Amino acid sequence: MKQTGMFWHEYHDFLCGYCCNYDKRVEYIKHHKREHERALRLRLFQPIKSRLPCEFIKAHKKCAKASQKYNKTWQKHVKQYTWRRYAKTWQKYIRARQKYAKVWQKYKEIRQKYEPEIKALHAKECPNCSWNGTKIVFPEVRK
Ligand SMILES: [Zn+2]
Repeated sequence: MKQTGMFWHEYHDFLCGYCCNYDKRVEYIKHHKREHERALRLRLFQPIKSRLPCEFIKAHKKCAKASQKYNKTWQKHVKQYTWRRYAKTWQKYIRARQKYAKVWQKYKEIRQKYEPEIKALHAKECPNCSWNGTKIVFPEVRK
């Protein structure tokens, strides 16, 4: 399986997005997601086969990278115990957060622009999908 690129349903509330590490996400699903959700999550988390518009991919990629960076700077910041370093990591975190907000705005515009095209592609490439327009619908757990 390819590791990076455009995938369907990396997250249950994502139709598609840029995945930075397929195996890592699969491991996470296998170990941390609710048991009755795992099989469906793994079945629907698939690479997009069709060619996608360049600017669509770019916007998703930028968004994924900016979000990664933003999370990393936060992780670094919360691990600081000296005041001098604390101020420095806080600044880095704030800059990453601002960058993410900017990238997210652009991403939203692009996503809207290609929405009909992507919806049609999804219908073709992801048969028997329980996507309801905003999230994957999981089977009920029998009690
Ligand atoms: Zn789907």
